[in-house]
Amino acid sequence: MSGIAEEITTAEVTPGVRIPFIGLGTWPLTGEDAAAAVSSAIASGYRHIDTAENYANEAAVGKGIRRSGIERGQLFLTTKFNTGWHSQRGVRDAFGEAVKRLGTDYLDLFLVHWPNPAQGRFVEACEGLQELVDDGSIRAWGVSNFKPAHLRLVQDTGLDVPLNQVQVDPEHGQPGQLGYHRENGILTAAYSPLGRSGSFLGHPAVSGPARELGKTPAQIVLRWHVQQGRVAIPKSADQQRQRENLDVFSFALTQAQLDAINALETGAPPRLDSDTYFH
Ligand code: NAP
Repeated sequence: MSGIAEEITTAEVTPGVRIPFIGLGTWPLTGEDAAAAVSSAIASGYRHIDTAENYANEAAVGKGIRRSGIERGQLFLTTKFNTGWHSQRGVRDAFGEAVKRLGTDYLDLFLVHWPNPAQGRFVEACEGLQELVDDGSIRAWGVSNFKPAHLRLVQDTGLDVPLNQVQVDPEHGQPGQLGYHRENGILTAAYSPLGRSGSFLGHPAVSGPARELGKTPAQIVLRWHVQQGRVAIPKSADQQRQRENLDVFSFALTQAQLDAINALETGAPPRLDSDTYFH
């Protein structure tokens, strides 16, 4: 990505904090597989890595980062914590454990992984995260898998939610969810952005532009995310596919091409219902 302006390859999470539009997803990689994927991605130009306590790979991700030789300040590192830490004190402890496993001393982005509304403490978790921003432990905070009803409860305390990481792909466009993000200035980060290599990659709305532009179907889908202002965190353990997934800033889709991919939307909900699923 060298040579392409930062305004094109990154999005603003909060004033002064920019997140690269494309990050490396690391689930379900663990151990040496995770370390190798992270160091090869960084060597290929990735500057954004996504991990989580629940992936049991933070130590391996840290190893991959150190192996790459990159300066910490050049990298945007996101992790997420489980619902057992949902209290102001708990979030601080979760941060301490996460940075220890990762072998770093700060985080760029720290996310509440699931709201767990039955436990009812995700608002406290967000308040704890804001304190970590205020004291400089983390650069920004956000949430993941929060529906509008969960986001509203956080916003009712006066906190602005900077980012929500949710499942989005051409067949799971989540128009209501993403509309709420737009109206409330919440940046969307798309997980499973390729639908785990979904069958839509072969649909003419995707394969047509791929042929015309000399790109792969995965590049067309990632461009579709980025061009509509979404961060995307595709997972690949393969260096060739990692490079391909990052190379989405030197071409553009027409409005008609974007609309044709948007029309693949099925109305299906995300795989997991965050009112009941959590870890
Ligand atoms: P994904 O990134 O949409 O798809 C990953 C699959 O696509 C892998 O099988 C990968 O295989 C393949 N792939 C990658 N690049 C490709 C390409 N250019 N062409 C063809 N196939 C390609 O799905 P995901 O892994 O579910 O999601 C990505 C990341 O999102 C995860 O790793 C994790 O970090 C995050 N996530 C977050 C949550 C949450 O609750 N916040 C939930 C799920 C996932 P190869 O490795 O063989 O290339």
